[in-house]
This record gives sequence, structure tokens and C-alpha cells, in this order.
Amino acid sequence: MKHFQVMIIGGGTGGIMVASQLKRRNKGLSIGLIEPSEFHYYQPAWTLVGAGTYDFKDTRRKQADYIPQGVEWIQDKAGAIDPENNTVSTASSGAFTYEYLVVAPGLTIDLSLLPGLEEAMQTSSVGSVYTDPDKVWRMLRGFKEGNAIFTQANTPIKCGGAPQKVMYLAEDYFRKQGVRDQINVVFATPGSVIFGVKEIAKTLSKIVIDRDIALKTFYAPIKVDAPKREITFRFMNSHLQNCAMVIDKGLGEEMVGETDIKIKYDMLHLAPPQRAPDFIRDSSLSIQEGANQGWMEVDIHSLQHKQYPNVFGLGDVAALPTAKTGAAIRKQAPVVVDNILEMIQSKSIGTKKYEGYSSCPLVTRYGRMVLAEFKYNNVRDSDPLLSKLMDTTKEQYSMWLLKKYGLPFLYWNMMLRGRM
Ligand SMILES: Cc1cc2nc3c(=O)[nH]c(=O)nc-3n(C[C@H](O)[C@H](O)[C@H](O)COP(=O)(O)OP(=O)(O)OC[C@H]3O[C@@H](n4cnc5c(N)ncnc54)[C@H](O)[C@@H]3O)c2cc1C
Repeated sequence: MKHFQVMIIGGGTGGIMVASQLKRRNKGLSIGLIEPSEFHYYQPAWTLVGAGTYDFKDTRRKQADYIPQGVEWIQDKAGAIDPENNTVSTASSGAFTYEYLVVAPGLTIDLSLLPGLEEAMQTSSVGSVYTDPDKVWRMLRGFKEGNAIFTQANTPIKCGGAPQKVMYLAEDYFRKQGVRDQINVVFATPGSVIFGVKEIAKTLSKIVIDRDIALKTFYAPIKVDAPKREITFRFMNSHLQNCAMVIDKGLGEEMVGETDIKIKYDMLHLAPPQRAPDFIRDSSLSIQEGANQGWMEVDIHSLQHKQYPNVFGLGDVAALPTAKTGAAIRKQAPVVVDNILEMIQSKSIGTKKYEGYSSCPLVTRYGRMVLAEFKYNNVRDSDPLLSKLMDTTKEQYSMWLLKKYGLPFLYWNMMLRGRM
């Protein structure tokens, strides 16, 4: 069985950042990276693709160009992980042993978790920037009147802000096309507020009111009926309980029993249900029960597995109480790298800690963006330099330029190269 000092599962944002940083700091390390895909995607730009302001093909590059020199790419799928014996198997390349394991296979989109969604996604009026951003752009261009409903599944999702980013851009697009008066723009979220960080929520709430967006909180989608073009939500507010109190007949909302609400859609955008990949759920690395069941169990500051000290997890797969984003991984990767190098050298873990930093570049219209930066417990955590230059909680043109041009450049040329 071939052996590596460090084995990395997944060559997405987390896997490549860790591989590059490890190699930069210790050229001599033997590193294997298991990744099946020929391409690497810059997913944060998919929201812009959905609004017709970014080309999908520019979000995709050859994986081979980003595997750091000296890292052995095993182009295959990881399968069973046996952390007792430091072994990971693959679909067709056999098994490997390791001294340290880094787990970063992202998450799985699972349409089957929302009844009716698989069928609905086949129709021309239901789509998602998470699965096919070009289709979303076709949907927006063809839309002239009726209910445009934007919502998100009641599971953890990557980039929690994406469902509303695409909604703001769509609303702006309808305005520019002169069809806004014929369209009800609805944003329905299972959450209790528009955004968890109060400074950002204040700005977004004003946008929602000024632009006549129907905000529906505590709305968890439970069923989509494609032939009838209806979506049913469960009203999640246990204090109000009876959804009669929030029904909006102007939008055509109807009560179904005491807790469910049905709305007709003419266009429906969803962040689909998401969960940890099967091979993680089936392994002893995952949380076995409770709210985070199936996600990978790590210490929230060291990112070290709680039971297996030579195993680390980062990115979307990790059960961390913060938003699942690439921005979060930028702060997680150095902690994983530091801890592994320290353990190789001194057998004890390093001192760097991840404090839950994540950020969400909320595009609020074409040419405007608010930058939400926060850490554990939704505490605002703004970059000191950036916050000296501007108030990132307000809509800014410069922030839009950062989103559209700056961040993709930094991603491909700096972050994936282990330079930041
Ligand atoms: C629409 C959208 C908008 C977003 N917007 C933003 C944003 O504005 N800002 C931001 O910071 N983040 C944003 N994100 C989130 C960001 O893209 C993810 O959080 C980030 O890419 C997660 O990195 P990861 O390494 O955990 O997973 P990924 O980057 O998804 O990579 C996982 C890799 O693991 C591989 N893999 C899967 N299974 C296996 C297996 N069995 N064996 C080996 N390899 C496997 C996959 O092929 C993939 O290459 C957005 C995401 C989406 C979808």
C-alpha cells in the first residue's frame, strides 16, 4: 500500500489551499491528493452567472493547473476511511496509508430531500445557481409577470447569502427591463431574520422595504408540486404557531392546515437541500446523532478531529457553527497547516486558532455590494484595513468591483497558490 505523510481528500477550495500552503512551508513533505474531477470551479461567481454578468466558463479551470508541484494527484474518488488503521480506500486506485489526513470533500446537493424538487428542477420555471447558473439566467430573461419566489432548503447550505444575492440581482434586472410592476418578488427563508449579523441586517432590511420585496421569515419549504406550480412551506415560528397570522392573500398564499402555507410560483429559485457526502456520513469521522448528524466532527478552533488527533477537517464538510464559505476556508487552511507541521515536528498541536471567521459578499444590485464579515456567534469581524477605507456594511460600488474582478483574481492567483 502506498504511504503518504499527508493525504488530502478533495481538491476544491480547502484541499488545494492546504496542499499549496503545506508545500510552500515544507517542500520535502510527501503529499497525496484524492480528487476525481478534471475541473476546479470558482463557485462564488455562480450568483453573478445567474444574473448574466459573469461567464460560466470563466468559473472553471483545469484541476491539473492547480495541483501544487510535488503533490501526487490521485484522480479518483475516496471511499471508506479507516482512521484506526490510517487508511483510505478509493474507487479504483486501491488503498493508501497516511500519517495525517485532511478531509475536504465539500458537501453533496441532494434534491431528493425536498419532495417534488427533482421533478420540478426539470421544468423551465424552477432552477438554482447552485446547480445550473446558466439556466437561472435564462429564467430571468424570459420572466415578465407573476410570482418570482426565492427560497432555501432547511438544511445547512454553502454560502448562506447566495439565495438572497440572486434575488436582489433578479429584482434589479426586472426593474431595468421595465417589468417590475407586474412581478411579486418574494424571499422566503426558514430563518428568523434576513441576516444573522445585526449591522448587516439593518442595511438589508431597508433594501427589502425600499424595493418592495416580500420577506417571509420562518418559511421552510417542504414540498414542490411541479404540475400545479406550487410550493408549500412549513411556518416555523412556534410562538405564532398558526400561520393564519402571516397569510398574504395578495400573493395568493393559502393555508394548508394550521402550520403550512401554499403559494403558486411562476418562477422559483432555490438553494437546494445539502448534506455531508455519503462516505463521510458512513465513516467514524462523522457526528453520529443530533442536529449535526453526518457532518464531520472537528474541534471548532483547532479543526482537529475529536477522536483521531492525526485527522483534520475543513471547509463545507466540517460541522462548524459558522457560514460555509471559501472566505471561511481562507482562515481555516493556515490553522490546519500550522497544526500538521507542528505535530510533525514536535508531536504536539500548534497554537493557531480558528475563530469562526466567514464572510459573505452580498451583491444587492448590479454595481453594488455589502460585505458581511463575522466570526462565531455572528459577531461582526471586519478586516481592519478594509474597514478603515470604507463602511462595508453599506452598499458600495468598490465592493462590487472586488466581487466581480478582485476576488476571482485573488482566488486563482493567490489563495489556491498558497500565497494568502
Ligand atoms: C452559488 C454559490 C455561491 C457562493 N458564493 C460564495 C461567496 O460569495 N464567497 C465565498 O467565500 N464562498 C461562496 N460559496 C461557497 C464556496 O464556494 C464553498 O464554501 C467552498 O468552495 C467550499 O470548499 P470545499 O473545499 O469545502 O469544497 P469544494 O470547493 O466544493 O470542493 C470539494 C472537492 O471535493 C471533491 N470530492 C467530492 N467527493 C469526493 C470524494 N469522494 N473523494 C475525493 N474528492 C471528492 C469534489 O470533486 C470537489 O472538487 C458559494 C457557493 C455557491 C454554490
